[in-house]
Amino acid sequence: MSLKTDLTSADLNEIRRSALGAADPLGVAAELADAVDAGRLADQADAGYALALAAEIAESRAKFDAALRYVDRAVEAYGTRDDSETGAARALRARILFQTGHDDEAMAELEPLRPLLTRYPDASAYLSSALDIGKRARLAEQWLTEAVQSTLAERDSAEPANAEDAGQLFFLLQQRHRIRHAIGLPHDNHDNLAERLETRLANATAAEAATEHELVFFPQAEFERLRAKWPAATAYGESFDEHRAHLETELVRLAGAGRVGLAVLPGALDGLTGDPAEAKTRAAYARQLAASSRRISWPPERNAACWCGSGNKYKKCCLPRSRG
Ligand SMILES: [Zn+2]
Ligand SMILES: [Zn+2]
Repeated sequence: MSLKTDLTSADLNEIRRSALGAADPLGVAAELADAVDAGRLADQADAGYALALAAEIAESRAKFDAALRYVDRAVEAYGTRDDSETGAARALRARILFQTGHDDEAMAELEPLRPLLTRYPDASAYLSSALDIGKRARLAEQWLTEAVQSTLAERDSAEPANAEDAGQLFFLLQQRHRIRHAIGLPHDNHDNLAERLETRLANATAAEAATEHELVFFPQAEFERLRAKWPAATAYGESFDEHRAHLETELVRLAGAGRVGLAVLPGALDGLTGDPAEAKTRAAYARQLAASSRRISWPPERNAACWCGSGNKYKKCCLPRSRG
């Protein structure tokens, strides 16, 4: 494998996803370090991330000496940055130090990171992972308990309504719950709260998936065929205009609620099995489409072709339909 000339942040994320399954992961790690040395990163600020990634790859192959060299350079590249990404690199360094028997040095790296627990959602995961690998799960449990307590003390109500509302607290509770199960501690009140929030989050996710049938899109020709075959099935809209206006409105609503990566799922009459007047047919079809990779992403640029396939500019086609 040979890496391309200028590695963007997106390239690095892709390598992160694929490197562990690569034929020669250590080669990938070495190339990442070379790319940093040769200034072949699109954004020099990614140097720490690229080197930490190389370290993680080497660690996964138990090449701890190489991993330590990479991670030392990563930590140096991050310098005095005080964000979660830097914390993750330092926690990785601690994790590698534990695996090479340098426990004191590992703890010296981890201790100053402890305040990150109440500041960043992912900190509870990488800090407890490092402590766990260092055979300090009980210490991780103590750190997490204390972070839960101090977060709760700052809140007005003891029980948040849902996982989203719980925010930072949710990640702490979840990680603490996992560790306590792993070391065989009995359920306490915080664990009960963690389970209630986990259940609520799972239910909210299921409800969200159920609304996906709102995003099934039949291009005009398919829509006309559908209406001709099932005249009584009006759930997708009485007319094509109503169909696309409904989708546009739903997409605008979802975007307003903070959803990103929105897309419509292009459907075809032939894929539909059963009567689309029935909600369960529509839900099953939406699930089937959601599982395929076909998507029309939304929104298009204002002057680009509209997502509905009309050939008109978005700003003159479906963009105004949500305001109808
Ligand atoms: Zn439990
Ligand atoms: Zn349109």
